[in-house]
Amino acid sequence: MVQEKGTISIHTENIFPIIKKFLYSDHEIFLRELVSNAVDATQKIKRLAALSHYTGDLGDLKVEVSLNEEAKTITISDNGIGMTAEEIKKYINQIAFSGATEFMEKFKEAKDANEIIGKFGLGFYSAFMVSDKVEIQTLSFQEGSEPAKWVCDGSTEFEITEGSRTHRGTDVILYINQENEEFLQKYKLQEILEKYGRFLPVPIKFGTKTEQEPDGEDADGKPKYKSVEVDNIINNTTPIWTKSPSELKDEDYLEFYKQLYPFSEDPLFWIHLNVDYPFNLTGVLYFPKVKNDFDPQRNKIKLFSRQVFITDEVKDIVPEFLMLLHGVIDSPDIPLNVSRSFLQADSNVKKINSYITRKVADKLSEHFKKDRKAYEEKWNDIGLFVKYGMISDEKFYDKAKEFALLTNTKGEHFTLEEYKEKVAPLQTNKEGNLVYLYTIDAAKQDSYIQAAHKKEYDVLVMNSPIDNHFIHHLEMKQEKTSWKRVDADVVEKLIEKDENLSHVLTEEETGKLKTIFEMAINKPEMKVEIEALNPDAMPVTVTMEEWMRRMKDMARLGGGGMGFYGSLPDSYKVAINGNHKLIDRILKTEGEEQQVQLARQAYDLALLSQGMLTGADLTNFVNRSVQMI
Ligand code: ADP
Repeated sequence: MVQEKGTISIHTENIFPIIKKFLYSDHEIFLRELVSNAVDATQKIKRLAALSHYTGDLGDLKVEVSLNEEAKTITISDNGIGMTAEEIKKYINQIAFSGATEFMEKFKEAKDANEIIGKFGLGFYSAFMVSDKVEIQTLSFQEGSEPAKWVCDGSTEFEITEGSRTHRGTDVILYINQENEEFLQKYKLQEILEKYGRFLPVPIKFGTKTEQEPDGEDADGKPKYKSVEVDNIINNTTPIWTKSPSELKDEDYLEFYKQLYPFSEDPLFWIHLNVDYPFNLTGVLYFPKVKNDFDPQRNKIKLFSRQVFITDEVKDIVPEFLMLLHGVIDSPDIPLNVSRSFLQADSNVKKINSYITRKVADKLSEHFKKDRKAYEEKWNDIGLFVKYGMISDEKFYDKAKEFALLTNTKGEHFTLEEYKEKVAPLQTNKEGNLVYLYTIDAAKQDSYIQAAHKKEYDVLVMNSPIDNHFIHHLEMKQEKTSWKRVDADVVEKLIEKDENLSHVLTEEETGKLKTIFEMAINKPEMKVEIEALNPDAMPVTVTMEEWMRRMKDMARLGGGGMGFYGSLPDSYKVAINGNHKLIDRILKTEGEEQQVQLARQAYDLALLSQGMLTGADLTNFVNRSVQMI
C-alpha cells in the first residue's frame, strides 16, 4: 500500500544529474558516506541509551555490508536509531533541509562540487552515483514505530510504503548500475572498506572468512585444526589515537605504526595530539627515520574525521615542514569538502596548524632537556625537520633555536648559543664579527680542516641537503655572524685578524714566482696570488671565494636571476705560500723549465688534496712524479 507519493523538494527540476556530475570524482566514496551514516546511526542510539532516552536492548552495535552478485545489489545495514517515515521525509527527501534555495545559491558559486556535499548533507545521495535505484528499509527505535520503505530511482520521484524490517535499524540497498559493476566485486569492496573504514568506531562486518581453530589432537597426539567461518570484521574500533596517552605503552605506538606502514623502519619518537578547545583534534604523529634524503614519499599523514578516513593529502592542515612526518590526525573541525583556498583561510585550520607546530616544538624541547645524549644520537634524523621548520616558520624558529644542534668535524654537538660561546674567542674577526667555518665533505676537505684545526678553529659539518638554506637563514637571524666554507680562502684569511702578515720574499722574487706559477698552471680562471702564510701551511692552496661559490650553487639549483653566475667558468684563487720552504726551493732552482715543473707539481698536489685533480691532469701528475722519484 502506497503511503505517500511525492516529489523531492528542491527548487530545480532534477537535482540528480547535477549531483552525479559534480559529486565526487571518486565514485567509491559512496561507500564511505553510507557506512558513515550507518555508523552515526549506531552511535546515536548508544548516546540515547546513555542518556536513558532509549531503554531497550542495545544489542551488539554493528554495521554490515553485504554483496549480492546475482541481484547486483550492495546492502549497508545497521542496528542504529532507524527512521520513521516522517524522518525519511525530513532527512532524506528534503535535500539540504537547511534550505534548498541556499543550496542552489551556493551551488552556483561552487567551483568544486565537493564543497556542496559536506555542507548540505548530500552524503546519502552519493548512492546515486553508482545506483539505478536505491531502497531504504528502516525501523525507528521509537516505541510503536512502523517499519518504512523508501524507494527512489534517481529521478525526483520517490515512494514511501510500509517497510518490512522487524528490528531497529536501517538497510540501504543499492541496485548498482551498469557503469559501476566493478563495485560488485568482493575484493573491490573489501579494499574500499579497508581504506575508509579501518578505524571506524563500530565493527564493520563484510561477509565471513575462514580461520583455523584448534580441534583437539589426532591419534599421534598432534594438535588438530578445523576450519571455521568467522565474521570478517574490517576495522579496529579503538585505534590508539582515541585512547588516552596514559593507557598506552611504547609498544602500542610502535605496533600501530607497523599497522599503518608495514614496511617502514621503527619511528624515532611520536607525539600524541589531544585537544578539544578551541577545536577538536586527536592524533599521533611519528618522526620517521629519514636520514639525509628527503623522503620522496610524502603524504604519509592520514586525515580522519571521527575515525572515518578522509584523505592523505594534509597539505595546509599540517605545516609544510612537517609533511615528512607520519601518522594520523582526526578532527571533526576541519572542513572536509571545501576547496583548498577556503581551507587555507579557515580559522580552525590556521589554529590547528599552529597547534601542531607548537606541539612538535614542545616535544622536541622535552626530549632535548630530558636526555640530551639520546637526543644528539637522533639529531641526524630529526635535524632535517628542525632546520626545515626553522627556515619556514618564524614561531618554530623561536622555539627551536634552543634545541637545534650544530655538529662539528669531531662529532660534538652544540646548541646555537653554546657554539657561539665556544668559537667567539678565536673566531672573531677584526671587525668583531663571528666567523663560523664549515665543511660539506670532511673527507674531501680534510687538508683545509686540518689547517683550520692547527689554528684551533672549529669546523662544522653541514652536509644535509637543506644546509645551504639553513646557513643563509642563520646568517640573517644571528647578528654579526657569517659563515665560510673551510676552502673559501687560505686559513690565514678565512678569519681576518689584525695581525700583520708578511712573507720573506722581495718584490722581485714575488713577481717572478707569480710568473712561474702562471706558466705552470696556464689557465686564466686560476688567479695566482702570493700570500704570507705560516711556514707550516701547505705551499699551494686552491680556494673559491665564499660568495662566488654560493652564487654558483644557487645558479645550479636554478635560483632566479643567478644564470649569470652559472655561466661564469669556475674561478679559483691559487694561493702560494711565500713563507714555505718548497717555494724558496723553486725560486732557487736553476733553469726556468725546472722551476715551472716544480711549480706544476706543487699545484697538482694542492688540487689532489681537494679531489680536483682528474683525467689527463692526474695521469700527467702521476707520470711526472714517477720520473721525479
Ligand atoms: P549527513 O549525514 O551529512 O547529515 P546524509 O545525506 O548522508 O547527510 O544523511 C541525511 C540524514 O539522513 C542524516 O543526517 C540522518 O539523519 C539520516 N540518515 C541517513 N542514513 C541513516 C541511517 N543509516 N540511519 C538513520 N538515519 C540515517
